[in-house]
Amino acid sequence: MTMSNTNEITDVIIVGAGTAGLSAAIYAARAGKSVIVFEGKMYGGQIVNTPEVENYPGIKNISGFDFATSLYEQAKSHGVKVVMQNVIAIENDGAIKKVVTPKDTYAAKSVILATGAVSRKLGLPHENEWVGAGVSYCATCDGNFYRGKTVAVNGGGNTALEDAIYLSGICEKVYVIHRRDEFRGEGHFVETLKNKDNVEFILDSTISELRGDGRLESLIIKNKKTEEETELPVNGLFVAIGQIPLNSAFADVVELDDAGYIVAGEDTKTSADGIFAAGDGRTKKVRQLVTAAGDGAIAAIAACAYADEI
Ligand code: NAP
Repeated sequence: MTMSNTNEITDVIIVGAGTAGLSAAIYAARAGKSVIVFEGKMYGGQIVNTPEVENYPGIKNISGFDFATSLYEQAKSHGVKVVMQNVIAIENDGAIKKVVTPKDTYAAKSVILATGAVSRKLGLPHENEWVGAGVSYCATCDGNFYRGKTVAVNGGGNTALEDAIYLSGICEKVYVIHRRDEFRGEGHFVETLKNKDNVEFILDSTISELRGDGRLESLIIKNKKTEEETELPVNGLFVAIGQIPLNSAFADVVELDDAGYIVAGEDTKTSADGIFAAGDGRTKKVRQLVTAAGDGAIAAIAACAYADEI
């Protein structure tokens, strides 16, 4: 049974302690508002899995984990309360919004949704079973387990390319398997990979089967042009084929697009008054650390103004 915490009204409730959510929290707290951030897992969001961040203005080089920890500590230092609970629903029946967790219900004048996204799965047999036994979604977290071994990275976006660069410094051999012959990720990452002796591209190809005995031992690769299937022995597979937004709990309060992203423009305003969307979970073209932080600032300023008006 859930408790009700709705006697106390928080100015700004933020759902998600990733870059967007924590940036919003810092802005709202510094504006003198009461702020609660809800997080179901660990603070930091996706950047925690990035080995090196070199494109955040003003910071030459930092690990994703250190960046996230610094952001979290910065938010806490400004008086932001962080509650480690999943938000399972938002109720938007009157001026005050209710934020529902499995344990409690909280009241807020305004809400910022910043839950981001999770890794897309291949959907193949053994994929879930062999996570930690050859299958991974996080090169930074698991790369070291494959030191001196042969691995494959699947995907053609920045994540896959950066993962492959990182793994090429640890592993004996890295295959980059991508379903097209052009990359979605940045060209300079592709150039870096082309110059590495231990990296090989397998293009126009998908993974049709994961094989092994209790753990991953090989991949069946299907060439989309020739339809030819080949077996590729690997010790590990790093799946980096994009993300799925984590917005299903909000589908009845804000409009989502076909892919599940919250429909919101650069002003972060959603279809519901007083509910804002920041970060990778909203409709946008550029999903970067700096745009997540920018979204957080914009959403916080809008949420604070909304809270002042009601
Ligand atoms: P992404 O850009 O959406 O790329 C996903 C890749 O996986 C695409 O190449 C896609 O192929 C492929 N793919 C999708 N579904 C597939 C399937 N079922 N089977 C095989 N391949 C599949 O995702 P991401 O690389 O995770 O990046 C997400 C966002 O974060 C992007 O905006 C990215 O720029 C950003 N990011 C930035 C940095 C950085 O700036 N340092 C680092 C990491 C991520 P197609 O290309 O054919 O669609």
